[in-house]
Amino acid sequence: MSGNPHVYKFHTKDGFLRISAVKSTQIVREMTDTLGLSAIASVGLGRLTTGTILMASQLNDGQSLSIRVHGDGPIGHLVAEASFEGKVRGYCQKPDVQSVDVKEAIGKGFLSVARTMPFQKEPQIGIVNLRSGEIGEDLAYYMHQSQQVPTIISLAVSLDKEGSVAQAGGVLIELMPDAPEKVIAALEKNTKEAPPLSQQLSAGASERTMVESYVHSKDLVETQHPFPVQYFCPCTIERVERTLTMLGRESLSDFLKKNKPVGVKCEFCKKDYTVTLARIQELLFDLETPN
Ligand SMILES: [Zn+2]
Repeated sequence: MSGNPHVYKFHTKDGFLRISAVKSTQIVREMTDTLGLSAIASVGLGRLTTGTILMASQLNDGQSLSIRVHGDGPIGHLVAEASFEGKVRGYCQKPDVQSVDVKEAIGKGFLSVARTMPFQKEPQIGIVNLRSGEIGEDLAYYMHQSQQVPTIISLAVSLDKEGSVAQAGGVLIELMPDAPEKVIAALEKNTKEAPPLSQQLSAGASERTMVESYVHSKDLVETQHPFPVQYFCPCTIERVERTLTMLGRESLSDFLKKNKPVGVKCEFCKKDYTVTLARIQELLFDLETPN
């Protein structure tokens, strides 16, 4: 496999359907290795991440999404974050979970979507109850509820015999409000009849072929999203220090009393950071000295 994946975007010439598709195998594999995910955790977080990549590709410059699945099942909560620029990371609370399927691993609960925009301090947050726990349907339900746009999201992560990630990908189809009944009916029919996405991915289908299995149109206009998808965590020692500072004066003093440098592990990329005692002293000084 060469290079990072890209999201491909399509629309029908009549403007009734807007579609994104991605083959995210490389990203899901990297995430599985970094986070030490069990087979079922790879499938669960892989689906969420693939869906988040697709949704983020519909945003504007500088915007990003952080999508959390809060279920009561053994996988705990899942987080996937993606920016319009294609930077992606994820987190799974119980990476070694064993379960029969994703639905059972997630259980019942809700899904929250935080959309961050440049020049806005607070993200926009939307919350919906989990419909199926299969993730694709849950994300589609969120899109329909929050933007009044009927959406189909099909996500697939398939495993090989050893339980490693074999293929991952997804398709997101938005139905514009003025779409006539016959376009809607055709899309529903095709969606029911389309071969499973995992099967298409295993057969080496292109993004366009995957989309054409849902949208039987000769008039699909294809464009490549300008940014490649990249597994990337923006954590830095400065961010770690800022987080420590936010714990407040007392916590910083406690660290000093314990007389040990503070070790912090980024929960997204597992990178280890050490904040020295001298640095904690400085952070405390800055906190106590208003400028
Ligand atoms: Zn990190």
